[in-house]
Amino acid sequence: MKITDIKPYPVWIGHRNQTIVKVETDEEIYGLGEPGFSSRELAVAGVIKHFREFLIGCDPRNPAALWQEMYRSHYFEGGRVLTAAMSAIDIALYDIMAKSLGVPVYQLLGGKQRDFIPCFATCEMPSTEALIANARLLLDSGWNVIRSNWAHTHEGDVYEPRESLALSAERLVALREAIGSGPVLGIDFHHRLSVAEAASFCQRIPSGTLDFLEEPIRDETPEAYESLRTMTDVPFAIGEEFASKWQFAPYIERGITNFARLDLCNVGGFTEAMKVAGMAETHYIDLMPHNPLGPICTAATVHLAAAVPNFAWLEHRVSPTETLEPNFDLYPQQLQAEGSRIYVPDTPGLGVDFNEELAKEKPFEFWEAPHPRRLDGSRTNW
Ligand SMILES: [Mg+2]
Repeated sequence: MKITDIKPYPVWIGHRNQTIVKVETDEEIYGLGEPGFSSRELAVAGVIKHFREFLIGCDPRNPAALWQEMYRSHYFEGGRVLTAAMSAIDIALYDIMAKSLGVPVYQLLGGKQRDFIPCFATCEMPSTEALIANARLLLDSGWNVIRSNWAHTHEGDVYEPRESLALSAERLVALREAIGSGPVLGIDFHHRLSVAEAASFCQRIPSGTLDFLEEPIRDETPEAYESLRTMTDVPFAIGEEFASKWQFAPYIERGITNFARLDLCNVGGFTEAMKVAGMAETHYIDLMPHNPLGPICTAATVHLAAAVPNFAWLEHRVSPTETLEPNFDLYPQQLQAEGSRIYVPDTPGLGVDFNEELAKEKPFEFWEAPHPRRLDGSRTNW
């Protein structure tokens, strides 16, 4: 079997773009993948065009060797753009291999270790009352792992960390009191805080209130997280932007993260994700995969989650408090949750397909993520 073409489709889905990568073969089997980038999609599509130049003619059933070729053939190896492109291709190669054998992808990863994938839901906290109401809605529907986003204290893109952390802490303490000790509760700060701010947030919350704190600070410096580690006992969930096993290594080996927020579409596809999962398993760290993209990312992550022993919960953005557009016109075949569970499929490959003609009719449009500012006008993180 040989690769005959690789086509990146950055598709405008109404509020942002979603990139679908199709790898075609000479045997009328094709595979689908998705890179993990939101925004800057043209950069990823450009890298895929470079990879296409030397991947055409290769046997798609050797993803590990092709991973090495994509990574090592560039003197300036690695980085998030290159690895997002590699991830999409690697996922598509696994889709092709599994389809050629007539088996689901997880069979190529060691087989399935569970029957369904437990998911967590996300909710906003516009007020304490609304946060408690959102959580009750989720709990009543069987979602017992709940992640909140940070509190907004200003309109638009203005973000003031001290105000946000104080209000977030107050509302989460009220929520824990309201729902009791059973449900799993976490918060994501989208790396908007400094070490001191993250410590202040944690110190305003009684021990046991939170089960995880997701990305309070940026991740470029593991030592900064080690410093924060000494100031709080809340478990950390880190890693959704990591673009290789090497980026995960210090966080796992030094005990900095307690959940691996691995993103299959950023870390390097199945080839790299299985290595990170193994590294995490040696330190008794469970995966809590990042899954904010489209149906291809969801399906691929379900297969990974089915195959690894060390797994906590999958982010799923379709729940009673949130609906990420499933887009059945564009993806007529996709995996769907039943309540807070996604049952492991037995269809060959990933179990997802797209409408290529429709993808061509919805070409890329320029879009920018928010550019948050402090009240004084200075820039801060999205
Ligand atoms: Mg996050």
